Amino acid sequence: MSAARYKLHGDVAVITLDNPPVNGLGMELRAGIVAGLEKAGSDAKVKAIVITGSGKAFSGGADIKEFNTPKMLAEPSLHSVIRAIEASNKPVIAAINGTVMGGGLELALGCHFRVAVSGVQVALPEVKIGLLPGAGGTQRLPRVIGVEHALNMIVSGAAVPSDMFKGSKLFDEMISGDVVAGALAFAKKVVSEKRGLPLVRNLKVSHPNAEGFFMVAKNTVTAMAGPFPAPLKCIEAVKAAITSKNFDEGLARERDLFSELINTPEGKALRHAFFGERAASKIPDVPEGQKTRTIKSAAVIGAGTMGGGIAMNFANAGIPVSVLEMKQEALDKGLSIIRKNYESSVKKGKLKPEALEQRMALLKPTLKYEDLKDADIVIEAVFEDMAVKKTVFETLDKVMKKGAILASNTSTLDLDKIATFTKRPADVIGLHFFSPANVMRLLEVVRGKKTGKDVLATAMQLAKTIKKFPVVAGVCDGFIGNRMIHEYGRESQVLMMEGALPQQVDKALEKWGMAMGPFRMGDLAGLDVGWYIRKRHYAEDPKAPRAAVADKVCELGRYGQKTGKGWYSYKPGDRTAYPDPEVEKIILEASAAAGIARRKISDEEIVERLVFALVNEGARILEEGIALRASDIDMVYLNGYGFPLHRGGPMHYADQVGLYNVARSMRRFAANKLSDPKFWKPAKLVEKLAAEGSTFAAIDAAKAAKPKRK
Ligand code: NAD
Repeated sequence: MSAARYKLHGDVAVITLDNPPVNGLGMELRAGIVAGLEKAGSDAKVKAIVITGSGKAFSGGADIKEFNTPKMLAEPSLHSVIRAIEASNKPVIAAINGTVMGGGLELALGCHFRVAVSGVQVALPEVKIGLLPGAGGTQRLPRVIGVEHALNMIVSGAAVPSDMFKGSKLFDEMISGDVVAGALAFAKKVVSEKRGLPLVRNLKVSHPNAEGFFMVAKNTVTAMAGPFPAPLKCIEAVKAAITSKNFDEGLARERDLFSELINTPEGKALRHAFFGERAASKIPDVPEGQKTRTIKSAAVIGAGTMGGGIAMNFANAGIPVSVLEMKQEALDKGLSIIRKNYESSVKKGKLKPEALEQRMALLKPTLKYEDLKDADIVIEAVFEDMAVKKTVFETLDKVMKKGAILASNTSTLDLDKIATFTKRPADVIGLHFFSPANVMRLLEVVRGKKTGKDVLATAMQLAKTIKKFPVVAGVCDGFIGNRMIHEYGRESQVLMMEGALPQQVDKALEKWGMAMGPFRMGDLAGLDVGWYIRKRHYAEDPKAPRAAVADKVCELGRYGQKTGKGWYSYKPGDRTAYPDPEVEKIILEASAAAGIARRKISDEEIVERLVFALVNEGARILEEGIALRASDIDMVYLNGYGFPLHRGGPMHYADQVGLYNVARSMRRFAANKLSDPKFWKPAKLVEKLAAEGSTFAAIDAAKAAKPKRK
């Protein structure tokens, strides 16, 4: 069935794009438009043609469902559709009823006339997925709104409201009221006034100081684009609009530049992130229409580092939230930190003073469980200690109303065990926020063995309400993110003992693109947390291997930024990490004591060993079903661990390197006497994919293609 509806309104044919949710220009829709044009063209009664969109969009551009499928390239391409419009001997009018983006805008620019309602978002956002508008957008937009304005839109990908284009050649008329009625009236005028068939391609385009303008643009964009090539290619394409001999030569240049971009690793990484983000919300055995529970009120247990931030998320979303502590003093302290956070946002101009009070008014401090009983969800953020969690969950089980969701923010404890402290394990779920919880977007939604599907679906929905990015994880120590980072941290310690100082390790990774290397990250998070856990392990198992250097650093009270010293030293009020000879001495002594002849380690080896340590653990996480898909792991790393976006996440990066090569490197590392051969044994999944010449992405795609279980 065609996704384009055709209807006659007197002597005007109206083609309505109908491909929810945003009228993506999929193959059927493209074919439907051409069929509509042909029908109208051969109907002598028809004097003009209107193209409009159904629902809230004119068209959001390419149909993302078709990405990487043969349909995307199938004829009629968007170019062919636009050619058909331009060849029409009856005026074609785009009636822009809503969002007009990417290919949708290019389609409209191919029409003879465009009318629009106000308040519509107009954009060419291709740059955001590492591309440029490839169906004439870079050639036509400058012809209607001018070179500078068009370049800004194309390079930034930003959406601009339609009202900003009043008086430009982008829109021939702004319509108030029903857009189709307005377009029909406009069509009548066009026909009666014999306005002809003007085409954007025939408009002149120039700039009084083109050479200088493009040079400045290039310098500015080079500084901003970082590793991404698309913004500079966008400039070249727009430049071609004025330097080419004619329109078709400019169009050919646009097409060449588009082809250059389609295979860049940076662009692939951006598209992987774009699709990975959408995929993460899909849970194979939870149907899209799964009934959810209503969340109108919340409660948080514990007003410490995490509890305070979590409570702020609810207040920010306008959801009343009770905050419970054991002692008044802790409660006051927690609330005062929240207030200070809001005050600092007010000072920075990010929050209006009245909003501060509104948000504070949504926070209900209490010392009594009785006050929480009616909350729709309660999130526990007390000390990371099973005995404490047990008391809290037993109490919650007694007091909370039936149907309330009982969530834990635990980072390492067994959620399934926590669920046994209640008589309602289906209502128990893990909501693992990242610190600072009011800032970090990532949220690991931890699905216990008995967590109800409706509880899971509610948590996913709630995450969006409080502006978080939820990724589902199964129960294991550290879930997805921390379980992997543990291995990365372990390998960074081996590298340090073998010959690389913290500053070299950090610099190598930061040069590669990580926001922060492992040692600087440790200093930021606080080294005492890991030390506390290690001491517990040593007590439980006296034979457990010691982290000699890290323990020594902590014994000296060097806990990181909070004590002014950690792996580095810090000056008051300055977060710059200065290498410290005291630490270097500890490291060299520890290497000597272990009989290690330190060697020079290349930056490439450092990066490979640390990133592949993530990949190997990621593969195990995938094998065990802790993560639903490899792209979920990447989303966790891109959104919670400062993994460089242009590398697409550890699993995507491994795919790009090729798993055959990754597995070979792992075997080489395993042969290193200082490494733990078990650590570097490639995960079964890595071996399998390496042998088959396959990828993590292929596994994701195969899983996505499986019919959904209800
Ligand atoms: P924290 O020590 O800063 O805060 C814990 C708070 O809980 C304290 O204010 C304490 O007074 C209160 N508390 C303790 N027992 C209580 C009880 N029985 N009833 C009510 N309040 C009680 O700790 P935190 O860093 O906020 O960590 C809290 C939880 O969040 C832990 O499970 C931790 O593993 C997890 N977590 C921490 C981080 C992080 O980066 N800090 C990140 C993710 C998850």
